[in-house]
Amino acid sequence: MPRRRRCRWVWFEPRVTYFGPGWETSEVNLTVDELEAMRLSDLEGLDQKEAAKRMNISQPTFSRLLKSARKKVAQSLVEGKGLRIEGGEYKVVKGIPMRRFLCYNCGHKWEVPYGAPRPAKCPKCGSTNIHRAPEDRGYARRGPRWMRA
Ligand SMILES: [Zn+2]
Repeated sequence: MPRRRRCRWVWFEPRVTYFGPGWETSEVNLTVDELEAMRLSDLEGLDQKEAAKRMNISQPTFSRLLKSARKKVAQSLVEGKGLRIEGGEYKVVKGIPMRRFLCYNCGHKWEVPYGAPRPAKCPKCGSTNIHRAPEDRGYARRGPRWMRA
């Protein structure tokens, strides 16, 4: 039975998915979540705790992912192996996750980014009778604790 894993969040989709010297006889497979671990750590300069949060995984998992990614890239560079970027267990998170609100007075719907303060009233009619949009609640429940409202 496959081990159940937490879904890894990836904020970036690679455009180039293959690198190689042209004469390679073998290749290594870097997964998209491994690449994301490297990107967050080595390019964005996040510490492992923060980077793990971004990917919605534990810090030990992030640490393993990063180690594995660096090893594969080093292998490719040193041994002249092709580097193929594909696969992995992840979902692509597009942009900043938004919370959706609904005004029960006028029916106006709008979005507020996670982390921003909860709106006090409807931006259209000024009513305070506002709630999270019903279709938004599932996402809010599934989201990690640090992103919950
Ligand atoms: Zn309203």
